[in-house]
Amino acid sequence: MISSDFLVVGGGIIGLTVAKKLKESFHGSRVVLLEKEPICGLHASGRNSGVLHAGFYYSANSLKARFSREGNRLMTQYCLDKNLRINKCGKLVVAKNENELSRLNDLLERGKANQVDLKKISKYETKEIEPRAKTFEYALFSPTTSSIDPNEAMGALKDDALKEGVEIHLSTEYVKREGKEILTNVGRFGYDFFVNAAGLYADKIALDFGFSKNYRILPFKGLYLYSNEMPGKLNAHIYPVPDPLYPFLGVHFTITVDGRLKIGPTAIPAFWREQYSGFENFEFKELAEITFRQFGLLAFSKFDFKKLAFEELKKYSKNRMTQLASELVSGVHSKQFTWGKAGIRAQLINLNKRTLEMDFVLEGDDSSLHILNAVSPGFTCAFPMADYVCDHIKKNANI
Ligand SMILES: Cc1cc2nc3c(=O)[nH]c(=O)nc-3n(C[C@H](O)[C@H](O)[C@H](O)COP(=O)(O)OP(=O)(O)OC[C@H]3O[C@@H](n4cnc5c(N)ncnc54)[C@H](O)[C@@H]3O)c2cc1C
Repeated sequence: MISSDFLVVGGGIIGLTVAKKLKESFHGSRVVLLEKEPICGLHASGRNSGVLHAGFYYSANSLKARFSREGNRLMTQYCLDKNLRINKCGKLVVAKNENELSRLNDLLERGKANQVDLKKISKYETKEIEPRAKTFEYALFSPTTSSIDPNEAMGALKDDALKEGVEIHLSTEYVKREGKEILTNVGRFGYDFFVNAAGLYADKIALDFGFSKNYRILPFKGLYLYSNEMPGKLNAHIYPVPDPLYPFLGVHFTITVDGRLKIGPTAIPAFWREQYSGFENFEFKELAEITFRQFGLLAFSKFDFKKLAFEELKKYSKNRMTQLASELVSGVHSKQFTWGKAGIRAQLINLNKRTLEMDFVLEGDDSSLHILNAVSPGFTCAFPMADYVCDHIKKNANI
């Protein structure tokens, strides 16, 4: 058996930054990280939009608001220090009609409350930033929203964690808990404190520790269409005004770190947790459980799951996606786009309230902590989230 002071499960951005921070904070401790895949970052952390969000979408009392602004600053600095590519293109949020102007103002207020640099600009100023952008009277401009390559950041963080002495065990899958030991596919690991950062499987693991009783993960698939236009065809990310009832931001234009354009991601309900395409990673038990939950939401959800599912399923059509994208930007033609690598959101549903959880959720006690609902902007928020986890452990752990 391999023993440890801290055992972290999950080699995504959250698990890596938490393991690294634990090693820095608890001198001389043994920190072991388990990842079921042969490399780190194979799931959400390596399959996202790569946007460093500014933090104006989230209500001021949320963890997302608390972590985004500082997370954006810290990840930007990390990329600069490590010579990783970053595209400081900024972002426009555009309105389609008069109704959306009041929601644009709400975002502006949230930005102010969260102390985020955000400007309300006229239609003409919008055109000066990006001539192809379409908006009704006003738009918002966020200068600190940028793009990085999440896989480059993951590679650098993994190297740093290893240098600092974190022991990373790849192809090592958490199977079950037996008291203060974890059984994996390759043997047993002991721990004094356990951190669950298992993304799409975080709820399952948390249940073994008596947590996540009130929550389950419902996977939502994010598909992207990549443009074949030359890099540099758009000056800023362009997003619609989001529907405040859902935690998703709507189909938008992202500029990648190398200046290419992509539209997406969708938020299509998936039928098993790692269903990236077709029957990939098919799990019958998950299909049964998730279909059951989706039917439950169709019948009883407190939000309009039927409308969400119906609208999202239509986005399997390239024409539908480009039609939505052309409401934001001129000169969009469906033949310019091809489907690219999909990502899946580990979105939590609250079983009692029958709602989607909007904020990060953490549950734990004096010997374990479970990071649930590490959805967007989880990548942006990773460094402050790791600080928060370490502070929580210092205050609550029995070590
Ligand atoms: C489509 C999409 C777009 C997004 N865009 C952005 C964005 O632009 N900006 C932003 O800030 N955020 C974005 N996000 C959110 C961001 O990607 C996530 O918040 C973040 O990656 C979550 O990291 P994680 O470490 O919790 O999860 P993951 O990266 O999924 O890592 C969890 C790890 O746990 C491992 N694991 C699971 N079960 C086990 C087990 N039993 N044993 C061992 N290991 C296990 C998995 O293999 C995985 O590597 C996006 C997400 C998606 C899906």
